[in-house]
Amino acid sequence: MRVYFWGTRGSLPASITSGAIEAKIVKAIRASRARALETDEAVEAFVHNELPFPVRASYGGNTACVEMRGADEYVLCDAGTGLRDFGGAYMKAKASGGQNLPRVFHLLMSHPHWDHLQGFPFFTPAYLPGHRIHIYGGHADLESIFVRQQSEPCFPVPLRAMRADIRFHTLEPGVEYNIAGMKVACIRQNHPGDSYGYRFQKDGRIVVYSTDSEHKAGGGEEHDRFLAFFSNADLLIFDAQYSFLDAVDAKENWGHSSNLLGVEMAAAAGVGRLCLFHNEHTLDDDALDRFLEDTRAYLKILDGSSRLKIDLAYDGLDIKL
Ligand SMILES: [Zn+2]
Ligand SMILES: [Zn+2]
Repeated sequence: MRVYFWGTRGSLPASITSGAIEAKIVKAIRASRARALETDEAVEAFVHNELPFPVRASYGGNTACVEMRGADEYVLCDAGTGLRDFGGAYMKAKASGGQNLPRVFHLLMSHPHWDHLQGFPFFTPAYLPGHRIHIYGGHADLESIFVRQQSEPCFPVPLRAMRADIRFHTLEPGVEYNIAGMKVACIRQNHPGDSYGYRFQKDGRIVVYSTDSEHKAGGGEEHDRFLAFFSNADLLIFDAQYSFLDAVDAKENWGHSSNLLGVEMAAAAGVGRLCLFHNEHTLDDDALDRFLEDTRAYLKILDGSSRLKIDLAYDGLDIKL
């Protein structure tokens, strides 16, 4: 299995400014002083191996969209603005000789908040006849929500004008489904209006996508239900929009969790790799990088011998399991 992140921000897209890009270039040139970077290869190696991530790159600004690769057809979680880039890449691959690419897309929705829905009207394959899109979720009224998003005065093209064959399916928690050759189960999560997390199994690998989910510290039955759902996942994609202080104080009951709770739950559930997700839209690349370092430091305090690997998702992150 492979997991590719097309969109990783939470709540709102977060574009980068020209000033932020210029500041990165200034830092990179300063760091390259007194270095003999005479060949193109030397420049590329220096940028890739020696510049810190927030200087050479960016965590990105698209909202939630994650592709589960390794299925028979396309499988995606959420239709945030990252879905537009996925659709663009698909169209490009098709135009450059990919005539035999699958034409069926499986889209699993965590919930219909804007940041998980707003990429769909810009998903080019949805406009193409001969393509099929299955949309799944725990919310029984998903179809009417998709129709409403593409209604006047919010959007000029109604859902019914999209020419792909679009079908909606309601999933029940506790049932195991087969979607494009992957075993898939879902769980209801604590979030305003409810949300659903998904557990995928394929080729002996387990990936859990669990975003927009507020967990409370202190254990209990609800906590155990999630530990069982996360158990032994090779990769856990976890809503860690908030710092610990935000989660327990100012933003309690806003429907999101903290990085520290993510570490504790991943460690307790025997997870191999934790990917912090639903990145706070007000944080810049330096702040997100500090957030990741703080999270890794917390794991060392919690369990110095832990082999849990921690990443912070970014647009373009490609995890091979
Ligand atoms: Zn969200
Ligand atoms: Zn939400």
